[in-house]
Amino acid sequence: MSNTPIRVLDDVTVARIAAGEVIERPSSVVKELVENSVDAGAREIRVEIQEGGRRLIRVSDDGHGIPADEVLLAFHRHATSKLRASEDLAVVRTLGFRGEALAAIAAVSHVTLLTAASGAAMGTRLRVDGGQVGAPEAVGAPTGTILTVENLFHAVPARLKFLRPETTEAGHIHDIVLRYALAYPERRFVLVKDGRTVFQSPGTGELEDTLISAYGVDVARAMIPLATVRTATADDDDDARAAVGVAGYAGPPHLSRANRQHITLFVNGRWIQDSSLSFAVVQAYHTLIPKGRYPIAVVAITVRPEDVDVNVHPAKTEVRFRDARSIWDAVQRSVRRAVVGGSPVAPVGGDRLDTGEPSAESWVAALPAVGPPYPARRAQAAPEQASLPAPEGGALPMLRVVGQVAQAFIVAEGPDGMYLIDQHAAHERVMYERFMARLDGAPSQQLLSPEPVRLSSAELALVEAHGESFRRLGFDLAPFGPDTVLVRALPDVLATADVAGAVRTILDATAAGGAPIEDAFEARLVRAVCKQASVKAGQTLAPDEMQALVRSLEATRSPRTCPHGRPTMIVLSAERLAREFGRT
Ligand code: ADP
Ligand code: MG
Repeated sequence: MSNTPIRVLDDVTVARIAAGEVIERPSSVVKELVENSVDAGAREIRVEIQEGGRRLIRVSDDGHGIPADEVLLAFHRHATSKLRASEDLAVVRTLGFRGEALAAIAAVSHVTLLTAASGAAMGTRLRVDGGQVGAPEAVGAPTGTILTVENLFHAVPARLKFLRPETTEAGHIHDIVLRYALAYPERRFVLVKDGRTVFQSPGTGELEDTLISAYGVDVARAMIPLATVRTATADDDDDARAAVGVAGYAGPPHLSRANRQHITLFVNGRWIQDSSLSFAVVQAYHTLIPKGRYPIAVVAITVRPEDVDVNVHPAKTEVRFRDARSIWDAVQRSVRRAVVGGSPVAPVGGDRLDTGEPSAESWVAALPAVGPPYPARRAQAAPEQASLPAPEGGALPMLRVVGQVAQAFIVAEGPDGMYLIDQHAAHERVMYERFMARLDGAPSQQLLSPEPVRLSSAELALVEAHGESFRRLGFDLAPFGPDTVLVRALPDVLATADVAGAVRTILDATAAGGAPIEDAFEARLVRAVCKQASVKAGQTLAPDEMQALVRSLEATRSPRTCPHGRPTMIVLSAERLAREFGRT
């Protein structure tokens, strides 16, 4: 090796080396293209992928497009419309600014650009194959940009080799789209995977609506809004205006997760990864969630552009703050205030497996070690598998019931591995959806002899205040003296001998939900009734009962969580099983 002369590398190699820093995997392409669409002012951003992005990534937007005479420039390295002078680097207001993404992507794939600038009569089409720029053609096209990236890394075997299985790469892409949808709730995002729409945000401008698309209704409803904090930074004396803003949502402590991936941080609309600020969020839950568990949170930080350096890494996912300490404090305080002030009573046994409606991959990441663990491999695997929930992966495949474990869990087999279903949580989900579907006409069971039940004054007040809701659900409760109600009928699902016990438990559970989260009383009441009426852990189920329960669960809209947002099931992929047995 020692006598090899020094040579200047050829352009193609230089471009590939540079591309390596920006484009690590398919999701990096999606991130760069989505950022370009956001910078272009797009209201609707559509991402299509095939085979985890290796075969195809297409990002279409209705932004301002690229003028015909600038199309070639866009693919030059360090060509950008977003900076004019080096001083602008100090006050970056766009997501892009380095001018290298399109050049980098084009160096390692086949790119087709179709774009039309607003106001232009014609659009332009251009192909770039592995860095070889073709001739632009004038074509008719709507205002906006469609960038298609095919055969990513086809000529970079080193990169291809390091790509993870298709589902993992697709998970990373899902993750990116979801984060940007959360950062820009006023824009519509759509993700289409192998021809199927797997994520869609409504673009209403309400972060809450995007949270619902991202995490499902139950989790989204439980999220606590951060009181918007505005503080001045330490050296802000020349400017009385507040200099740090913190807004967003924090999950209640009982919806904790097994990894940090559900803490999403934005700085001035840019998704960033910052372990110190993630820790500020985790720290805010001190004593509220068990060690090794992490909250869900979406935290948007705003600072003046001159107070943050975004030019730290080619991928632009890290930033440096001028006054990191006060930002850390502001985040920690804002989240703490929300969580302490607004968290509902945590259900018993706060330590649990991952929840939400994630892909099988992230369920697996959340599982504790089974048998002899492989610590090194596990540690490596964790970040790979981390991905946000895939809500429309929500639909369950057909499951074959295998048996019951510990009189609490149903073991079933699905196409992707083994399912462990919490029989109580699953039944709650089934009943909840049935109930919600037929509220008002909820069948009711008249008691043969009405039963007086003594209540506390708080419980009585609850019954009085929400008489209509109780009636709609099938309760018939009549006042009976100063501290008693007469129970004349119950929802039929509550067929029980212990009428008083059931009514008290339900009132209890309903009152305990009295968090500041805007959650309708009626929904809480329905959940409480379902909980009371569901098969309990500790109940032996016959095979056909299990099968019937699993079939009903398959038919629900959100089969993967109970109405309280806890998981109904965990999935052990066949891949994971093979790994645990040392077969891979
Ligand atoms: P950067 O975003 O850092 O400027 P890129 O290589 O990502 O660099 O893009 C180069 C330029 O191409 C951008 O500055 C912008 O002018 C133009 N461009 C890229 N994508 C789009 C898009 N979707 N809509 C409009 N213009 C775009
Ligand atoms: Mg860019």
